[in-house]
Amino acid sequence: MRMAIGMDIGGTNTKFVLAAEDGTVLSSFQRPTLGVNSKNKEEIVPLLVKSLKEFIAKDRTQAAIGSSALAGIGIGIAGLIDRRNGTVLQSPNITAINGAPLRSIFEQEFKLPIVIENDANIYAYGEKWVGAGKNFNNFVVLTLGTGLGGGYIYNGRLFEGPLEIGHMTIVPNGRYCPCGSYGCLESYASGRAIIDRAVSSLEKGTESLLMKCCEGNIYKITPETVFKNALDGDSLSREIYREAGQFLGMGIANLINLLGIEAVIIGGGLLGAWDLLVEEIKKESIKRALKHLASDVQIIKSELTKDAGSIGAAGLLFSKITEADSCIDLSAN
Ligand SMILES: [Zn+2]
Repeated sequence: MRMAIGMDIGGTNTKFVLAAEDGTVLSSFQRPTLGVNSKNKEEIVPLLVKSLKEFIAKDRTQAAIGSSALAGIGIGIAGLIDRRNGTVLQSPNITAINGAPLRSIFEQEFKLPIVIENDANIYAYGEKWVGAGKNFNNFVVLTLGTGLGGGYIYNGRLFEGPLEIGHMTIVPNGRYCPCGSYGCLESYASGRAIIDRAVSSLEKGTESLLMKCCEGNIYKITPETVFKNALDGDSLSREIYREAGQFLGMGIANLINLLGIEAVIIGGGLLGAWDLLVEEIKKESIKRALKHLASDVQIIKSELTKDAGSIGAAGLLFSKITEADSCIDLSAN
């Protein structure tokens, strides 16, 4: 059976998997992303190559590979991807990588087919390949973490576009977004939004159990702190999650109206708060989307929270080389 490597380069950690063609994970590994504070591409790319070599050299990876040949390497990274040239045009959290000829450098180093794709897109492909999206052909995956990413599976295949759902404008003259615009969905429904909303309410003097957390330092509040306090019955914390769910529901209603999807799958680091979010998401999206389009849409949890991106990157690599093989077969006939 063929095997591929999936590598998901994040702003904090890089995750690696070795996966077989049926989606079985044979070896996985996570490490802090090397070179994340590099000044330029000449500095960071060799470090990324080095971290992948380390994963391949691991005993467990070597034992799983055995005498089989690797089919290739799929790489996911946050940002806008230039698929034609295999580069990252604009990464939000690893700016040194912008413009680096990632695909050609990895091809030269590893002598294997390489696919570069956006991190939320590989997550979406992972859900289609072996996750909650297996039985759907048209769905959107939202990755709800520090920010809000999106990927779209259209007719069973990954839609190769930006799908920057987090930067859909949802509030005119709304909160500032690091993308440079105002009122983006990500500024209302993401880990960052939850922290901002909590801190600004506390600064205005809203009473809340949150005042007692983090040794009294409200600037240390995390989405998890707000989640725990919501479970303890704190009304501000509950309201913050309700509001995030409401905004997500608005964004999802827009997606349902635009794309006519069968499902929305939600994943990412904030998934632990699913129970606090889901009712409001469903209520708001059904209220706002066109009835005929919304009635059968399923809003469900990701099944692949751990390693979803790296698994999806390996899966996407398989799909790309299978496509390439069939093109060669067709031309041979
Ligand atoms: Zn934005």
